[in-house]
Amino acid sequence: MDAAPTSRRISRSASAPPTTKKLQSGYMSNILTFDSDAFRHCLRDPIADITQAARYLDQAVSAHLNGQRDSAEELIRLADIPAIREWTESLWGKNSPYVRYRPSTELPLLAQHERVRVRMPSAIEKHNLHLRDGYHCRFCGIPVVRKEIRQRIRNMYPNALRWGITNWECHAAFQAMWAQYDHLVPHARGGTNELANVVVTCAPCNFGRMGHCLEEVGLLNPLAREPVRSSWDGLERFHREHEQPLRTGSFDDAGA
Ligand SMILES: [Zn+2]
Repeated sequence: MDAAPTSRRISRSASAPPTTKKLQSGYMSNILTFDSDAFRHCLRDPIADITQAARYLDQAVSAHLNGQRDSAEELIRLADIPAIREWTESLWGKNSPYVRYRPSTELPLLAQHERVRVRMPSAIEKHNLHLRDGYHCRFCGIPVVRKEIRQRIRNMYPNALRWGITNWECHAAFQAMWAQYDHLVPHARGGTNELANVVVTCAPCNFGRMGHCLEEVGLLNPLAREPVRSSWDGLERFHREHEQPLRTGSFDDAGA
């Protein structure tokens, strides 16, 4: 996993997936225990500003590819929306009001020697995860951007895509939309590194859940529903500037 949010760097154990059977039984036990608290698709619904920021960034990349550097720079700045920073900060950290932790004994904590070694997906595995999940968070559905793409854009537009030491010094939209590869079942709880246990998420959903099992924070298994599909390409065409023809059309939100 990439470095967590800086000023409040969060230690998240990678996980591995339980078997579906275990997940299901975990859900059932929690449903019985916490039947007054409905399970959710995500910790907190995304705000409209994120969709707007994605439109700006999509337009920025199109402007860049058309040689309109000034327009691209301005659009990247416009996407740095303070409300997105507030949304992100409301989700990660120990005191988030949106993360309601309810301990479960369904998957007990494993001793260190019983855990599989944490491993992040290889480049090929990440590619396959995006083929399956697209470029949207499997929990909240917001558009995401790979770190490598963000770094390439930052190299070209360092003043507009700010990325400092603390969270508050980072571009709000790029940090919220930072693609993560999140283990559904934490490795400390018996999860493995198989891709069936890993989903593409945004940074706030990943760091907001921390090392808890899905059922412990009242989340539904995102693999039980279809991923969000839209024309959002994760800004990947910036990366392929010299490899592919320009894409026509613009980002059209599909439910993020
Ligand atoms: Zn998310």
